[in-house]
Amino acid sequence: MTKPLIAGNWKMHGSANSAADLAKQLALHDSTFNGVEVVVFPPAVHLERVVAAVVGSSVGVGAQNMSQWSSGAYTGEISGDMLNDMGCHYVLVGHSERRALFAESNQLVAEKFKAAQQQRLTPILCVGESLQERQQGQTVQVVTEQIAAVTDLVGIESLCKGVIAYEPVWAIGTGEVASPEQAQAVHAEIRSQLGSQGANTRIIYGGSVKSSNAGAIFAQPDIDGGLVGGASLEATEFSKIAQLMVQG
Ligand code: PEP
Repeated sequence: MTKPLIAGNWKMHGSANSAADLAKQLALHDSTFNGVEVVVFPPAVHLERVVAAVVGSSVGVGAQNMSQWSSGAYTGEISGDMLNDMGCHYVLVGHSERRALFAESNQLVAEKFKAAQQQRLTPILCVGESLQERQQGQTVQVVTEQIAAVTDLVGIESLCKGVIAYEPVWAIGTGEVASPEQAQAVHAEIRSQLGSQGANTRIIYGGSVKSSNAGAIFAQPDIDGGLVGGASLEATEFSKIAQLMVQG
C-alpha cells in the first residue's frame, strides 16, 4: 500500500486570513507527519492563499468540488485544470453534502471522477449510506452502486488510481462516529470487491473523526487514513489525528 492519507475538509468555513493562518500552523507540524500524507481542502476562493502558506512543507492541497466539464459556458463552475493551475493535486467528488444538498447523482459523480483524472487531479470518491439505508440493511448495496457508477465509466484501474472515502452519512458532522468494527466491515467489503477484480486502492474513513477516536479507527487493517471535517479546522487537533495514523 502507498502512504496512508489524512485529508481535512474545511467545508465553507473561514476567511482568507484565517484559512492562511490555519494552513501555516499546520505546516509547522510538518516534521510530525512522517509516513503519512496530509492534504487540506479549503474553500475554492482560499486555495491560492493556502497553497502559498504550505509551500516548502509536505502538506498538500485539494479542492472540495469541481465541474464535470473542462471549459465553456458554465457560469459559476470551476474546472479541474483551473484547480491544478492553482496548485491542487486532489479533489473530493461525491461528498454526501453535495449528493444530498446539490442533487449530485451517482452518474454525475462518476463524470466528475473521470474529469478529475483527465485534468491532472487525484479524485477522492466519497461513498456512504444514510441512517435509513443502514437500518434497512442496504449499506453494502448503496456503497457498491456508488462505486460501480465510477467503474462502469472509467474502469477498475482508473478507480484505483484515485482514493475511496467511506463516509457513513449518519456519522458526518453529527458527532456520532461509526464503531471501528462497523467501519472496518465496510472497508473490508470494498477491499474484497476491488480484490476480486484484481485491484486495490487507499480506502479512508470519514465521519466525526477526532483525536479521541481516531486511534481505534486507524488501527483497523483495511483503514488507510481519514477524511476529517470539523476536527480539521484546528491545527493541533488535526495534527494529532495525523500522528495517530503514523503510529497506527
Ligand atoms: C466530512 O466533511 O467529510 C466529515 C467527515 O465531516 P466531520 O468529520 O465533521 O464529520
